[in-house]
Formats: sequence, structure tokens, C-alpha cells
Amino acid sequence: MKTGLVVCSPTGVEARATRRGLGDAGEVRHSGYGVTRAAAEARRLRDEPFGMLAVSGVGGSLSADLRPGDLVVGTEVTRPAAGGTPVSLPSAPLVAGELRRAGLRATAGAIVTVDHLFRRDERERRACDRALAVDMESAELLAAAAGRPSIVVRAISDTPRRPVFSPWVIPGGIAALRSLRLAGPVLARWAAACGPRRVLLAGPRSFCAGVERAIEVVEKVLEQRGSPIYVRKQIVHNTHVVNDLERRGAIFVDELDEVPDGATVVFSAHGVSPEVRREAAVRGLDAIDATCPLVSKVHAEARRFAADGYQVALIGHAGHEEVEGTLGEAPHAMTLIETAADVARLEPADPGKVAYLMQTTLSADEAGGIAGALLERFPAARGPGSDDICYATTNRQLAVRAIAAESDLVLVAGSANSSNSVRLVETAQRAGTPAYLIDGAADIELDWLAGASVVGITAGASAPPAMVGQIIDALSGLGPVEVDERVVATESIKFSLPKELKS
Ligand code: SF4
Repeated sequence: MKTGLVVCSPTGVEARATRRGLGDAGEVRHSGYGVTRAAAEARRLRDEPFGMLAVSGVGGSLSADLRPGDLVVGTEVTRPAAGGTPVSLPSAPLVAGELRRAGLRATAGAIVTVDHLFRRDERERRACDRALAVDMESAELLAAAAGRPSIVVRAISDTPRRPVFSPWVIPGGIAALRSLRLAGPVLARWAAACGPRRVLLAGPRSFCAGVERAIEVVEKVLEQRGSPIYVRKQIVHNTHVVNDLERRGAIFVDELDEVPDGATVVFSAHGVSPEVRREAAVRGLDAIDATCPLVSKVHAEARRFAADGYQVALIGHAGHEEVEGTLGEAPHAMTLIETAADVARLEPADPGKVAYLMQTTLSADEAGGIAGALLERFPAARGPGSDDICYATTNRQLAVRAIAAESDLVLVAGSANSSNSVRLVETAQRAGTPAYLIDGAADIELDWLAGASVVGITAGASAPPAMVGQIIDALSGLGPVEVDERVVATESIKFSLPKELKS
């Protein structure tokens, strides 16, 4: 036990609540109330051979958004009165995410440690410091960690509306102690996930040229036309990108009927059908096209084959915006093929005039298998002039395959509706490695990390590069992290902006 988890809980009731939730997964210490006792406990603990440190106790909220029983997981802890510099706790987003999955209300945020109970006016002043919670021990106790993985979980007992010197403190305390007990199993999983590890980065990863261009189009339109501007569908399939552009004045809509007449609308990187373009023209909309040029190339192929009298099989996924746009180029001449079994459904008027195209973000292996089945049935079938699966999709799949072979676990940063990100997960899984799609560090389940000493990380073509840094940062809160990169290809492609935006 001495090499494992030590949990410091300031008072006897906090220690009991924590112990009931934690079971025998760690040693819970009744470390004493207030900064002086906390400092003394930290001095005793510092030289003991424990592995990781958690602080579990109640705290006061500095935010009007928190309720009694809510949990605050410290991203950093400061003791401002002592002039202390903030102690950073990078694994806080992992623990907060795990607590939420356990059904608890939990937020990751800054905590301040003070040497006396706060009155209401002090609470309001501290709130300006952007800390979420206040306590009287954590900053002192963390001195015992001396570089070992640490975490602070505080359950809110009192709030600015229900302060500590009020009758509300009793029900607030009961709610807080219940949350501390329920948080115990999460502390146990956090401790099991701690340890040194190696991170293998796939190269290339993250933004491709088409995504960079699409985001730049929206930024330029905002700069040149001012907000509001409208974007039909998500500009790229990533929640972080969309939320960021929304904050800056872009309004995302599903269909053109949500766009006021005469307004500016941007078409997303996935492309639109000619019908959508026609509707925009009839409505007098100022339409700017952010369709990736590599998607436009597939549209052009569809038009060409259809004009030459071919029945065109489009290999892709039903419902994806890119597929809908491409099918719209020649609806009378195109059939969607999702699996090799779908090939049997094709009934071309002339079996000698069959062609096939592909969605740009498919798995190369899977799409190749479907194309093979098609060629077996229609040996004269014609394919695209050059690969439809784009360079970015192909490179990211090769790169994730290279790291999967050496990894215990692969994490793919990307949103659930991102086709190329989902394909990266499947590619790693086909290589025999457990792989998961995450939209941020908070999505990482701690059980995935237990025993995973080599973690492969990549990001889909629509996921911002900063996400990878945030994931590595969160892992570094679980123990030392050594980062290596495996680069299978370098990319220098850049697409120019639509002519309307060139200054
Ligand atoms: S993934 Fe490929 S097709 Fe899609 S936007 Fe990027 S470069 Fe274009």
C-alpha cells in the first residue's frame, strides 16, 4: 500500500466518506483541518514511499454556477496569501470526465487555498480571480507530492448563495460528503492509470489542406463581410472548430431556408449538390464555396461519367454530406454502394458502361475490397483517373497503422461525425490494437490507460493540432511521459482561396 495511492482528507467525516468509496484501493489519511495542520502533514508524508497523492474533501464554491454536491477537480491550486505559484494538476480533465461518466456533476477548474473561512464579500472578490472553489488545505498538502502524480477533488458544501455561516451548510455538507463517497472509485481508477509511459505520435496527423482552407474561408468572410455570416452544415466535422467559429460570429444552419434572403452563406468543405447552388442563386444569397478541391474533383468525375452514359457506383457511406453532394451531381445515373454485397443490387442498362467513384475519406482497405467486388462482376468497369480517397486520408491511415503496431492503446482525436477520424480508429483496431475516438482529453476513460505503457496518438484531418498537445498534457499528470513521433509522409499541399476572397 505504501507505494500506492495516499488520499489526504482534512477532517474525520471527509476521510470516512472517502474511505467508504475508495475501499482498499488506497490509504486514506485524516490529515487535519486548516493550512497549519496540512503543512505539518505534508512534511511528514513527503519522504514516505507512496506512489501518488490525492486530496479529497469539501470546499466552498466561488462560482454561481456550482451547487452543493458538485465536484471541482483542481486544474491548478494556488495559495495566493503566501505568494505561492500555482501548482498545475494536468490530469484534472481526465478525472472530471470520469466523474461525469460516473453520473456526478464535475468540473475541472482552479482552486485557491486560504487560511480562514471566507465571508460573502471575500468570496465575491475571489470569484474575480477565476478560481472555481476555495479550501484551506490543498496547496499545503500538494507540497508532499514532490513530483509524484497528484489530484485534488473538492465537493462543494457551500456556495455564494448558501454561504458557510447559514443554515444551508448542513444539507450542503451532506450532499458534499455523498459526492466524496461516490468519487472514491474514480480516485481508485485514476491511481491504477498512473505510471510512466511513452507516447507515439503518428505523422502526419490533424488538419489537412482542405480543412485549413475551409476554416480560412470562414475567417476571411467574417473579416471581410462582418458577422453574422451563415455556414451551411458544419464547415468541417469537428465540434471545437465549429464552436470556435460560432463564438466569432458564424451561424451554422442545416439548410438554406434558415438563411435570410440576401445574406452571405458558406458551403462546407464536404461540398453541396447542384440543387443547393441553384437554390442559393434563386434566393439571391451571397454564396462562397469552401468545398475541398479534392471533393470537387470527384464531383467533376461524376458529371463526366454520367455525361458519357455510364452508370456510376459511388462507394461511400449513406447520409454523409459529401456523399449527398456527389450523388446530387447526377442522381439519375448514380447508385450508392456501401458494401461489397451492395454490388449485386446494381442493374446497369449496359453492363459494359459501369464506372465507380469513392468518397474521399474512406478506409483504403475497405473501399479497395468493394471496388474489387465491382470489378469482378463488371470487369470493364472504369474507375477514377486518380485515387478518390485523398492524400490526407491515405497518409493518416498509413501513419496510424505504423504506430498501432507498437502501441498498447491508440487514441484518435476527432469528433464522432468525422468520417476520416472514425476510419483511423478502425485502421488501428484492424492492426490488433485497442483504439478509441475522443473529442478531448475528458473523453479518455481511465480504465483504458491502466497497464497501457505505450499510447499511440493521432488526430483526424478535421481535428485541431492543439488537441494532441492537450491530450499529452493530460497524460503527463499521470506520470512522466516520453514523446516519440513516427512520420510516414510529409505534406506540403496548400489550396488557394476562392477567387471572391482573394484580396
Ligand atoms: S480529408 Fe481530403 S477531401 Fe477531405 S477536406 Fe481534407 S484533403 Fe479534402
